[in-house]
Amino acid sequence: MKISSIVGKDKLTLSFEVFPPKTDSDFEKVKEAAFGVAAIKPAYISVTYGAGGSTSTNTLAIAKGIQEKYGVATIAHLTCVGASKDSIIKSLSDMRDAGIENVLALRGDKPKWFDGEPFKEYKYASGGFSVGGACYPEVHPDSANRQEDIINLKKKVDAGCEFLTTQMFFDNSVYYDFVENVRKAGIDVPVIPGIMPITRESQIENVIKLSGCKMPQQFIKIVDRFKEDKASMKQAGIIYATQQILDLYANGVKNVHVYSMNDSSVAGAIYNNLSDILSM
Ligand code: FAD
Repeated sequence: MKISSIVGKDKLTLSFEVFPPKTDSDFEKVKEAAFGVAAIKPAYISVTYGAGGSTSTNTLAIAKGIQEKYGVATIAHLTCVGASKDSIIKSLSDMRDAGIENVLALRGDKPKWFDGEPFKEYKYASGGFSVGGACYPEVHPDSANRQEDIINLKKKVDAGCEFLTTQMFFDNSVYYDFVENVRKAGIDVPVIPGIMPITRESQIENVIKLSGCKMPQQFIKIVDRFKEDKASMKQAGIIYATQQILDLYANGVKNVHVYSMNDSSVAGAIYNNLSDILSM
């Protein structure tokens, strides 16, 4: 099923992100974890792509498996950094053959091991086969400023992105301001907020490094108070993410994407917290 026929409608939806195994020896273990998230039967599942295409066949295998076993629509991420046009065409045709109808078209970051010209054929995520794209409420780290970032975002939408998923954020006002600016720029596709449940203190450093997003004082206090007790920290992270999602729905957002990181206990808890709301 096409994601564009799921998002932007009246029905409230929750979707999850899973990642594929990095190595073939991990395949079964990681597949089972990803399938655990699919068993919750969210609106759809996105399957990430390892830096520089390092997991391309596993991304496809996980996405195909989820669709076939659980009947849940998937969107396969695809990065173009370091890729040739031929390899992108091949990836897209493999996706079609596997019955995947949705692609999150990404530029990606230069992988650590890659020493070639990273953006020779594809400089940015705009252009070519594109259904969904990424956007950055707290501005992409490569952008000079928000205005420039939004101008470039418009190019992606004009090139065919039918919906956008945001980088994670922990303060909803950041998302509301961003959407206001995006709409002023004439971008009218759904902007799906990406919510990351932080259930361990150790995730924070990585998240900040990866996304550059700010942690609000309210959340820092929660982490400081509960970080020493694993179960309490997990519960607090789930509650915080649920509250963010609830606030988004209350403010008219229809579709929320959760960076659930293959943890079905976290994804399931958030889903259950919102079960009546989601079946409205
Ligand atoms: P782009 O949209 O190309 O933007 C990158 C920079 O280039 C920005 O500064 C932008 O303003 C600028 N730019 C864009 N178009 C133009 C243009 N036409 N002219 C001039 N400047 C331009 N990474 C992975 O490796 N695998 C994944 O599976 C993955 N999934 C992600 C999912 C989401 C929802 C998000 C938010 C990010 C994901 N990433 C993933 C990370 C992403 O690949 C990096 O953030 C990367 O640095 C940017 O990719 P992009 O597609 O957003 O880039």
